[in-house]
Amino acid sequence: MEGAWQRVVQWISSSRRLVVFTGAGVSTESGIPDFRSPGGLWERYNPDDFTFQRFVQSEEARLRYWAMSTEMYNLLKRARPNAAHLAIADLHRMGRLDCVITQNIDGLHQAAGLPQDRVIELHGTALAVGCLSCGKRYEREEIQERVARSSSSPRCDECGGLLKPATISFGQQMPQRETAEAFRRAEQSDLFMVVGSSLVVQPAASLPLTAKKAGAALVILNRDPTPYDSLADALLRGSAGETLEKIVGELKALQGPVTAG
Ligand code: NAD
Repeated sequence: MEGAWQRVVQWISSSRRLVVFTGAGVSTESGIPDFRSPGGLWERYNPDDFTFQRFVQSEEARLRYWAMSTEMYNLLKRARPNAAHLAIADLHRMGRLDCVITQNIDGLHQAAGLPQDRVIELHGTALAVGCLSCGKRYEREEIQERVARSSSSPRCDECGGLLKPATISFGQQMPQRETAEAFRRAEQSDLFMVVGSSLVVQPAASLPLTAKKAGAALVILNRDPTPYDSLADALLRGSAGETLEKIVGELKALQGPVTAG
């Protein structure tokens, strides 16, 4: 009997605009824990301590933020793309992918070979640091060296403003261009595939709904239930890497090998 994943293979092969929406679950197989699963970051840290407002208001909060963020960065910089990132990059090489919209800050879709212009980073990137006053950008590594040497939080060379990793914190404004673009792509998609997201963080979690209302088929691939499961046209439970590898392997068998780089 045909399984849900085989239906998804058929849908991808006839889709004109496939949008893949990823969350922390696409990167757990690269050794980066998600936030909400057992052992995740929010078991050891309190999210309320890491709001944007606290960061701006107090040096103590900034030092706590940099300590938590340094722990995350040290994991990210050693992480390599896993089978899920590689399968998604293969979809691009096969000409089957409109774009990836990601909540992740780890750069692993690009490391797997997706061009930057195919990846919409809704929550920014941990690989850069920005000045909150003048906007100057820095390489993350350069600022981490300063953080390791100093007992105060880093400041901008140009204007003395507060430096913060180029990621979006709770209470911080979403990036306007990326958010608008993500909603536009979701509306235009005919197949919207969620991979590894608990779908509880807004506004990102309303993207599947936007796509579905505009007529797209909705696929949810996640290890645990999400609040949108009852809306999904296909629900795939399991490992992102294993499942996507199987789906893309079947697609390749149907369509011939990947050619473009
Ligand atoms: P989340 O932590 O809320 O949920 C992750 C979901 O992925 C869970 O529902 C879990 O069941 C599922 N999952 C975990 N491993 C999986 C696997 N191997 N295969 C399939 N499913 C798997 O993540 P979220 O919804 O992305 O939201 C968390 C927020 O934290 C995001 O905004 C993101 O910016 C940030 N974050 C990013 C990273 C990263 O960049 N890698 C890591 C942690 C958190």
